[in-house]
Amino acid sequence: MSSNLAAFAFLIASVCFILALRGLSSPTSARQSNFIGIAGMVVAVVTTLALPGVLSYGSIAVAVLIGGSIGTFIALRIHMTALPQLVAAFHSLVGLAAVFVAAAAFYAPESYGIGTAGHIHAGSLVEMSIGTAIGAITFTGSIIAFGKLQSLLSGKPLVFPGQHWVNLALGLLLVALVAWLCIGQSPVAFWLIVALSLTLGVLIIVPIGGADMPVVVSMLNSYSGWAAAGIGFTLANPLLIVTGALVGSSGAILSYIMCKGMNRSFLNVILGGFGGEVAGPQGDMGDRVVKQGGAADAAFIMGEASSVLIVPGYGMAVAQAQHALREMASQLKNRNVTVRYAIHPVAGRMPGHMNVLLAEAGVPYEDVLELDEINRDFASTDVTFVIGANDITNPAAKTDKSSPIYGMPVLNVEESGTVLFVKRSLASGYAGVDNPLFYRDNTMMLFADAKKMCEDIIKALESGRH
Ligand code: NDP
Repeated sequence: MSSNLAAFAFLIASVCFILALRGLSSPTSARQSNFIGIAGMVVAVVTTLALPGVLSYGSIAVAVLIGGSIGTFIALRIHMTALPQLVAAFHSLVGLAAVFVAAAAFYAPESYGIGTAGHIHAGSLVEMSIGTAIGAITFTGSIIAFGKLQSLLSGKPLVFPGQHWVNLALGLLLVALVAWLCIGQSPVAFWLIVALSLTLGVLIIVPIGGADMPVVVSMLNSYSGWAAAGIGFTLANPLLIVTGALVGSSGAILSYIMCKGMNRSFLNVILGGFGGEVAGPQGDMGDRVVKQGGAADAAFIMGEASSVLIVPGYGMAVAQAQHALREMASQLKNRNVTVRYAIHPVAGRMPGHMNVLLAEAGVPYEDVLELDEINRDFASTDVTFVIGANDITNPAAKTDKSSPIYGMPVLNVEESGTVLFVKRSLASGYAGVDNPLFYRDNTMMLFADAKKMCEDIIKALESGRH
């Protein structure tokens, strides 16, 4: 394939990726834009394989077969709720690939057209060292994020005195090593950069608590994009530079949006020490009293209401209750109850988690409203049905300055006439903090699995037992 034709094909692939990202901003166009993205990737892969310089199609086929089989196996088995850790695990591989490509280029610069061993172009050395550093930080950082999200490691922030100063000193040392590599082209400097960056990846992520992991995963997504762009420079591949920059910038924008959703500064997240392991009552309500009810009570209260707002959270996803929930909402609508859904930007375990599940269950898009659009309506709503959500409703975020979630915008569910909470116990949510709403007069706890409770409410509504 001529280089002009390849450049044109890469341009088409880049445009496909940009259109795919654009389409993902709305649930109505998201499906189609996924196909546009896939088409762009097919063009990119076929063009790359048709370029001169491919030494062995056989070894590429074997690698694709092994990688593709592992990827397919994982994708078929993975649950929606485990997607953040899967994304983190995959990012780690992008980071590792960046380190490998940089090492290959360092030891065989002729193959990459960037000079000869010991006489690599200065510009290429800078790109290589930055790509290596970001790649290695992404690799270990993503592994730690994976471990925390998968509960293999403690979600508690691991902090020690002088931590930020240690990180700063190591960061400065890294810059000095990059300078040494660029001037002396020493393999020792190269491998020290790798080792130091791997260490920094661990040190940057361990002080960050569980509740901040969404931002971390998105940030690592951004890093992996910049690492890929770095590989693109080393390989002189414009498509990889464009794609890496797209991933890098969209990951950074997503991190910004999430920080805004939690009312935290990006720096505050990175400096860590927030969130942790579950605290507060684990089903033990101490001397506090909660009002408990069952499916028949919920069916009665909602069936008699004129407006119901549904607030889904992580527990709805775990219980896979979205279909039963939609059925319950249809039953209520049949009784002329106005039913809408209020979605918090960090409900569930990944951005857009609730929207995807509700769309899968066939909930009309116009019934699904974001925090900014709906928060004022709670005060004029008869009943709020909180299903498997906790942190995103916790008023401590508004009032308790000592709470780790202080400042995070929350849904004002307590302003509605009655609040029904479907969850299995009084246990806290992801941020590990107790929710004072459970003990309020206008709250009724419905202790059950989310799906089972919806099914029982449907039965109660159908049988008219209420
Ligand atoms: P939370 O984690 O705060 O609460 C979920 C609640 O669901 C739990 O308290 C649990 O209580 C209940 N639950 C679990 N399983 C079931 C079940 N089968 N049936 C019924 N209830 C169940 O979730 P929220 O969605 O309210 O808040 C999201 C939290 O996760 C925030 O702190 C956010 O920062 C964080 N986060 C967000 C990410 C994102 O991008 N959206 C990613 C990672 C973290 P019980 O055990 O009593 O049933």
